[in-house]
Amino acid sequence: MQKIRMSTPIVEMDGDEMTRVLWQWIKELLIKPFIDLKTEYYDLGLKERDATEDAVTVASAEATKKWGVAVKCATITPNAQRVEEYSLKKMWKSPNGTIRRILDGTVFRAPILVKGITPYVPGWTQPIVLARHAYGDIYNNVEDRVEEGQTAYLVICDKNGAELRRKPVHAFGGNGIVQGVHNLDASIASFARSCFNYALDCKIPVWFGAKDTISKTYDHRFKDIFNQIFEEEYAQKFEEEGIYFLYTLIDDVVARVMRSSGGILWACKNYDGDVMSDMVATAYGSLGMMSSVLVSPDGKYEFEAAHGTVTRHYYKHLKGEETSTNSVATIWAWTGALAKRGELDGNPDLVNFAKKLERATIDTIESGYMTGDLIPLFKSEGITPVKLNSRSFLEKIAEKL
Ligand code: NAP
Ligand code: MG
Repeated sequence: MQKIRMSTPIVEMDGDEMTRVLWQWIKELLIKPFIDLKTEYYDLGLKERDATEDAVTVASAEATKKWGVAVKCATITPNAQRVEEYSLKKMWKSPNGTIRRILDGTVFRAPILVKGITPYVPGWTQPIVLARHAYGDIYNNVEDRVEEGQTAYLVICDKNGAELRRKPVHAFGGNGIVQGVHNLDASIASFARSCFNYALDCKIPVWFGAKDTISKTYDHRFKDIFNQIFEEEYAQKFEEEGIYFLYTLIDDVVARVMRSSGGILWACKNYDGDVMSDMVATAYGSLGMMSSVLVSPDGKYEFEAAHGTVTRHYYKHLKGEETSTNSVATIWAWTGALAKRGELDGNPDLVNFAKKLERATIDTIESGYMTGDLIPLFKSEGITPVKLNSRSFLEKIAEKL
């Protein structure tokens, strides 16, 4: 068979632990037999990040800016225990955070749906794509405890530090707490553009909610920026695609999402996205079935799984024990990257292949062959689900493919 050719590389970011093992197997069994794979390889495994003082992470993000499409394996974000385990020089920052900062991107998470696994909200028959604004609000806050009799102010100074305005936050009649948060017009605008672009890609409407009736300056700014960018840059394109943008209060959005059948892009402020992404992911079933993509406002894409390196399974694997780790979200990272590469390069064979690999994966599960995490969730008449190990699941998909 003639392998599918690629004209431009994909940036490949290798990772850690169990997902690093799956990474090799996916390439070996599902991709390389069919594609003359062209990647620019960066090893983001923790050892290599430590050896290069994390320069490899920065280089991989710069390469993504250059080539436009990346596929990333899950990576360890070091904590104190990892510093000891890997004898690290430093507690390196989260690679995802570094890449997101360099690309100024927004993360979109979407569940992968299969027949036989019903979401906990049975009405959600289509994916809810969740976009989280990953800048500011309480995540970059300043906060303090305040004692009875003290007063907290919001003070704005000019660039030389001279006071311009001062507003009392509260004169404390008892002990309490105070918090200062901020956001940036430019960051909100990037977020809005990323959401609108992604919605156009997937041809789904955008819903966005904030609390502008209570927060008449802060949250209202989010509403105004979204509305302005939509009207000036996207309204026409949305109309052509038959999709729409809805802004409404966050409480109303939550109520509408519950009643909806999915098929929407839900844009969330930072905290809402943090909380709601866990709710939505849980409602759709397993972490192993949640895909994720980072999209920059100028249209660069980095595809990955939403889950981590599945450490518990990796330690079993190292001891020679059998594992049954779900590789679906990691396969989706590859198919997402291949399809996007194909789309950008005008290479329909690549796009087609990505679709077929997704179809083969879904068919494999729907015909009853799956990893352990899905077994308790799967209910399909006349089919008794079969639990496969990490590698045999991939072999089964290869057979279908
Ligand atoms: P995790 O790797 O997502 O795994 C948590 C648990 O969820 C697993 O132990 C497993 O449950 C289940 N699970 C997750 N993915 C699965 C899959 N594909 N198939 C089957 N079960 C799956 O999260 P973690 O254990 O909190 O973090 C491990 C490492 O990953 C950490 O070092 C963290 O820094 C890193 N991490 C990286 C990313 C990223 O690169 N994007 C994201 C999150 C975490 P059972 O053990 O019950 O089977
Ligand atoms: Mg969260």
